[in-house]
Amino acid sequence: MEVDFFAYDGWSEGFEKALEILKPDYLIGSAHFVAANGTLYNSHDLKNAGKEEQNMLLYKYYQNVRAAAKSKMFDFLAHLDLMKKVGLGSDERWAEVELHTVQTIAENKVNVEINTSGFKLGFDEPYPSIRILNLLAQYHVPVIISDDAHNKERIADGFDKAEEIAHKVGIKDFYQPFEEQKAPFSFQSIQNQMAK
Ligand SMILES: [Zn+2]
Repeated sequence: MEVDFFAYDGWSEGFEKALEILKPDYLIGSAHFVAANGTLYNSHDLKNAGKEEQNMLLYKYYQNVRAAAKSKMFDFLAHLDLMKKVGLGSDERWAEVELHTVQTIAENKVNVEINTSGFKLGFDEPYPSIRILNLLAQYHVPVIISDDAHNKERIADGFDKAEEIAHKVGIKDFYQPFEEQKAPFSFQSIQNQMAK
């Protein structure tokens, strides 16, 4: 189950209740929205925003990703550079924010996916970019290859290509979710698992 992380008061309590009912096999944490100025922006809103507002929103997007990492609620984080989908964040100026984000992820011992849906964008790279994948390798962040398939035809799409790229950038740490011992699903059990 892929879930959006929200930092507002009461969200995690509500989410915990949902987990008790849904009992997902594993949780993928993501940020598809940016909360700012009392508004919730999606990727298309970011695309249509003015240049200065775009930068502010993208900055907040990465803040959100770091907050999701710090929450330790998720088995792994989804598409770290999602906003490249609308053409944002590939500029070299974002390298420092990416570094800070990967450092936070590493400090909190969070896993990250290589999302092969990124290949659909035509840059010949998955989510996240080669620039971020290099950082993940450098900081020994465990990765898992994931398809984000929205239909059955896309299951395991691009896995061979993603594996090749992972090896090329020097990733040696792979997250193996099904080798971890499964405890009954609860927030506490996820946190304990992540703290190991
Ligand atoms: Zn997503």
